[in-house]
Amino acid sequence: SYVGIHSTSFRDLLLKPEIMKAITDCGFEHPSEVQQVCIPQAIVGTDVLCQAKSGLGKTAVFVISTLQQIDVVPGEAQVLVMCHTRELAFQIKNEYNRFTKYMPEVKTAVFYGGTDIKENEKLLANKETHPNIIVATPGRLNALVREKKLRLSTVKFFVLDECDKMLDQIDMRRDVQEIFRATPTNKQVMMFSATLSQATRPICKKFMRNPLEIYVDDETKLTLHGLRQFYSKLSEGEKNRRLNDLLDELTYNQVIIFVKSTVRANELQKLLVECNFPATAVHSGVTQDERIKRYQDFKNFKHRICVSTDVFGRGIDIERINVAVNYDMPDSPANPGSSDKDALAQAADTYLHRVGRAGRFGTKGVAVSFVSSERDEAVLKAIEARFEREIEEYPAGGVGIDA
Ligand code: ADP
Ligand code: MG
Repeated sequence: SYVGIHSTSFRDLLLKPEIMKAITDCGFEHPSEVQQVCIPQAIVGTDVLCQAKSGLGKTAVFVISTLQQIDVVPGEAQVLVMCHTRELAFQIKNEYNRFTKYMPEVKTAVFYGGTDIKENEKLLANKETHPNIIVATPGRLNALVREKKLRLSTVKFFVLDECDKMLDQIDMRRDVQEIFRATPTNKQVMMFSATLSQATRPICKKFMRNPLEIYVDDETKLTLHGLRQFYSKLSEGEKNRRLNDLLDELTYNQVIIFVKSTVRANELQKLLVECNFPATAVHSGVTQDERIKRYQDFKNFKHRICVSTDVFGRGIDIERINVAVNYDMPDSPANPGSSDKDALAQAADTYLHRVGRAGRFGTKGVAVSFVSSERDEAVLKAIEARFEREIEEYPAGGVGIDA
């Protein structure tokens, strides 16, 4: 028989019984490949730099590994997880809540901007409420550290989700570095993303010691098998009509529609509602409380259609989304000093993350991208070249999701 290095059952990972029970409650039957490869090394303290496809359970890798190792001391923050958006921080906090169901002594908190910092400070000032696990966006976390409201000298686990995004953006990177320097030298560092360019890897590794490195170097392997991808050529003025037709003819559970700006998200949401497609919209133009509420409502199936900016482009996990529409094609302006080729590569990354919101954990999905300019066509070509996959024209008469 085949004796592999990979376990095939959660039981083989030898986790604490209270974690095993929570895993069972979550309905997880087998660890996914990334979990099989990473968890055994992560739970013995190895640093991890991991690139793995969207939707296959990277979150559980760091949630389970940190919970397995945490040594709860009231008033001590041992686990620090950072990510690039507030909704994602909120989602990760909820994952910790799910997995600590049988570890009532573990306290988890989430900190992000747009909320009252005094509330965070209050939580931190009291040993009874002080979290052991902190999930945060870097700006708010750094503010708490600078104001000396949060001490990081007890941190043992330092995790970055969507690490390429966090380290590619200069201001976020600065916050991350400052926070990193405020933590003890001796700690475990783990970073995750579906996209990790050759240029980003050494930047990540500067934070690590002798990490387990998992890369998907063959980019064609990043595409999701259950996801069918199409484009639709049209003029800007035809987009609304086409979207209407799509929503009429596709059998969807939930749809995410990506646009390039807050203003367009608002306009499109209103228009959809007027056309009897009850839709919500999530973007940075609404208050933070409202943003989280809309995220939760969408996740809880109160709406079936969500118009979003790239706020939802990465990390967000909503099981029922089976259609993703790029109403506006992803694009990224060429940074001063970097080439248009880099800009196109970034747009292709954005595309991969966006369409990965559909077809979570191997489920079936459809992605349709509207191509209305020469630039859009260039981005489409870059995507096809990068992932060596021909994106077909959306056929007249539509497609079936199970076809
Ligand atoms: P990623 O971060 O890799 O894009 P997530 O961690 O968001 O993926 O996981 C995607 C979905 O898969 C989540 O809904 C999660 O609950 C589910 N999931 C993760 N691991 C398993 C597993 N072993 N079995 C079943 N479902 C899983
Ligand atoms: Mg993720």
